[in-house]
Amino acid sequence: MPSSTSKKNAAESVKAAESVKVVVRCRPLGRKEVDDGRKTCVDIDTTRGCIEVKKLSKPGNDKQFTFDNVFDQNSRQIDLYKTVFQPLVASVLEGYNGTIFAYGQTGTGKTYTMQGTPSDPEQRGVIPNSFQQIFEHINQTKGIQYLVRASYLEIYQEEIRDLLSKDTKKRYELKETADSGVTVKDLSSFVVKSVKEIEHVMNVGNTNRATAYTDMNERSSRSHAIFITTIECCETMGTENHIRVGKLNMVDLAGSERQSKTNASGERFREATKINLSLSALGNVIHALVEDNTNHIPYRDSKLTRLLQDSLGGNSRTVMVANIGPADYNYDETITTLRYANRAKNIKNKPKINEDPKDALLRQFQSEIQRLRKILESKTQGGGTVKRRVRRVSDTGEEEEFSEEETVGREEYIKEQQKHLEEEKKKISENHSLIAEEKQHLMGELDYRARQLNEEAEARDALKLKLQSMESKLINGGDVIQKTAIMEKELQEKQRKIAEEKQRADEMRNALKAKEEKAQEAKETFNNLQSEVSSKTKKLTKLFHKLQNAEQEIKDLQEAHRQEIEDLTQTMHDLQRHLVTKQLIINNFIPPCDQEMFYKRTQWDDLTNNWKICRYESEELKEMVKRPLSAIPSQRHATCQVGKVQMLTAHASEKPVVFLRYKHQNILMVDLDLPSRTTRDYEGPTVAPHIKAALEAALEDEEELVVDAAKLNKRERRKKKKSSRTDNMMSKSSDNQIYSKSRKREEELYPSARGLLGVTPKRTGF
Ligand code: ADP
Ligand code: MG
Repeated sequence: MPSSTSKKNAAESVKAAESVKVVVRCRPLGRKEVDDGRKTCVDIDTTRGCIEVKKLSKPGNDKQFTFDNVFDQNSRQIDLYKTVFQPLVASVLEGYNGTIFAYGQTGTGKTYTMQGTPSDPEQRGVIPNSFQQIFEHINQTKGIQYLVRASYLEIYQEEIRDLLSKDTKKRYELKETADSGVTVKDLSSFVVKSVKEIEHVMNVGNTNRATAYTDMNERSSRSHAIFITTIECCETMGTENHIRVGKLNMVDLAGSERQSKTNASGERFREATKINLSLSALGNVIHALVEDNTNHIPYRDSKLTRLLQDSLGGNSRTVMVANIGPADYNYDETITTLRYANRAKNIKNKPKINEDPKDALLRQFQSEIQRLRKILESKTQGGGTVKRRVRRVSDTGEEEEFSEEETVGREEYIKEQQKHLEEEKKKISENHSLIAEEKQHLMGELDYRARQLNEEAEARDALKLKLQSMESKLINGGDVIQKTAIMEKELQEKQRKIAEEKQRADEMRNALKAKEEKAQEAKETFNNLQSEVSSKTKKLTKLFHKLQNAEQEIKDLQEAHRQEIEDLTQTMHDLQRHLVTKQLIINNFIPPCDQEMFYKRTQWDDLTNNWKICRYESEELKEMVKRPLSAIPSQRHATCQVGKVQMLTAHASEKPVVFLRYKHQNILMVDLDLPSRTTRDYEGPTVAPHIKAALEAALEDEEELVVDAAKLNKRERRKKKKSSRTDNMMSKSSDNQIYSKSRKREEELYPSARGLLGVTPKRTGF
């Protein structure tokens, strides 16, 4: 009962978070669709709240969704209202905010669900049905004062238009206050006292609503329309007034279809883009609200989401009706709508009763009424005494006229005064004894007084009227007679509902029985299958272990293989380096003909697994120069002389002669590329003449050392060695000296090995 809600304390008014309620309604196939032979692709199980959508072109690809309530093609407006919307409107009457929005493709029945045909009770949609409920409730509620107002706006291409304003082209902005949240600035709202009045407001708005033609539906609405009903109620408890405010938003969204389906172009295309923008912003808000890890909710992305901010994740109870069409060609859109709706199910709102808000209009009305009453009171005070003529029968039995004084109120007093003035005026005009000037003066005075009295009376009347009109805007609930009738009606309705529920329960029981039977069958099959499953599981486990081992082995092998490749590569590099070094030595230190001979002599020995060097063939040996004989038979080192001779003869005959035995003597004759001198001869310190003379004298007897390496024989050299050892003035080692001397001589003949490496000009030899 309404009065019971007033007893709730503030703590109770704050309810725990509750989910957005999502219901789906499927309309019947349209006439055109039937004519075109369209098939239904939607299966609805109203008892389980289940919807199955089948792709007829691809059997087995069915999609299932579950919702709080689902309504099939045969659903009646009133059923939908009673089941889903009535509880929501009832909570708005208690002081909660409520939102109902219809979402879906164009032509699926959003406007039908929200508006229907208001004049036909069977076809009435949510909005007109809510009017009935609101005013019935107010009439039933005793001792509570209500103020109901309605606004109607439209968001068209991201611009807000007031559908109740005379200037429907004017654009409105949003504003945000701590008490009322996000509202439209300067939006007109009409105070209504009855169903008739609020229906009139709705009709005016509907005629102003923008509609445009697209392929989808002949009069498809391309805008989002929001009908707002604000219900304020005041309950007096003791000496205190308690005000509660509930706001009901009823939103008929524009079609959610993709632009490609509408065949829109030009202005229509731009329009569709903007409509899609706000709908996709709505989708993003829903998505962000149901994601756990999102802090930012993009309400500000569109005007629609800003305005519905409280309805989505805020202080509101929200019901979303997802409208779908059953025809197979709408399969994709139907799935999209159902997915959208499915996501919205997870939005959590925190509704609370809006108690004593600072900006409640009802409070403003009450204080204004109070003020007017006070003014009126002051205007009615200050009456006076008036003389009345009364007829009375005297003691003598004759009727006499007396004049009596009476104290009256201000209103009466003014009336008397006006009457008195009129009489006075009449008397003066009839009095011929007065001169014209005097008469005029007196009449002027009387007119002035009469005017004053009139003005006072008019002001009081205006005040009275204003007060009356303000008071009339507030509805005082509770008409007992009406209440009984309504209750009777309600009772009948409830009985009908109980009967329906019973029927539904029977259906459910039958369905449950059938399912139990099915479950039993499935259980038997299951037992057989289970033993099969357990043996297969064992096998599978074994195989799995095997697989794991094999996989591990493959990994190990791969690793080993990789390691081997690395080692081999390293070895190959080492060998290459080694080979290059050897090749370098061979090329530089072994003559090509020797190399050739050597290569010929080398053979791979399979037995030893190694290269072996073969002996010279006899032919080869013949060709080889025989070992030169020493000129002095007993002396071994005559070869030097022989080599010299051979070289000279070869040089003369210009034939290359290979001196096989002493290869170090196989020296090439090349011109020296002498560098320019960069040093100076040593010049010793100047010696005093007497010291010089003494030194010369000392050296005079010394035998000058002359070494001819070519002619020097061993004995001589030994002798020289002996003598040179004693000579401190000469170099430390006589051998070295001899060698260096002979070397010097040789170098004179055969320039040093500067041109040896890599140069193979005209080859000479001994
Ligand atoms: P929307 O507003 O989604 O574009 P409408 O409400 O204009 O769609 O519906 C399109 C047509 O389908 C209308 O002629 C309407 O009467 C019809 N219709 C929609 N829903 C139903 C329903 N549940 N039962 C019967 N007719 C319906
Ligand atoms: Mg519509």
